[in-house]
Amino acid sequence: MKLGRREFLKLSTAATVATAFAGLGFNLKPTVARAQLLKLNWAKESTSICCYCAVGCGLIVHTAKDGSNRIINVEGDPDHPINEGALCAKGAAISQLAENKNRITAPLYRAPYSDKWEEKSWEWMLNTIARRIKDTRDKTFARVNSKGQTVNRCDGLASVGSAALDNEECWIYQAFLRSLGLVYIEHQARI
Ligand code: SF4
Repeated sequence: MKLGRREFLKLSTAATVATAFAGLGFNLKPTVARAQLLKLNWAKESTSICCYCAVGCGLIVHTAKDGSNRIINVEGDPDHPINEGALCAKGAAISQLAENKNRITAPLYRAPYSDKWEEKSWEWMLNTIARRIKDTRDKTFARVNSKGQTVNRCDGLASVGSAALDNEECWIYQAFLRSLGLVYIEHQARI
């Protein structure tokens, strides 16, 4: 076959793309998420991400179709590129986050020096947290350090973020903390 320059380039590009994807093990066909072990007519199947750590393993979650939306099974998603169906012990037991009689379902507050937890409303809890953050921030905000250099920082508060936050939520959260002047900012997934 005689090839002109244009045909040669087209063929080379197609061959390069095919080789690159084959080399990376990609299958460009759409994939379907399927539970490995269960085929339940009375359960709804949804995909999710494990919230425990920064690995971000894919999950298949089965919820009852009887109107209760209770979780009846969670397993690794075999079509997820990170874990390919595998889960560590924590991820494998993740249904217990939702289905657990010991789960705390209302905010609990322990006053300073008290040995008891009291149930509070979300409104009371959020207002109290906001009030205390504001008061501590105002009390411990430093405009200059001991050498008289401008620092504009708050030394009285620190934050440990959660691996349950995604990238965008973490970004918004740290922007909020920095707007208060915090410098001690850490993330649970790094610890
Ligand atoms: S299953 Fe285990 S490794 Fe995967 S995200 Fe959850 S905690 Fe991390």
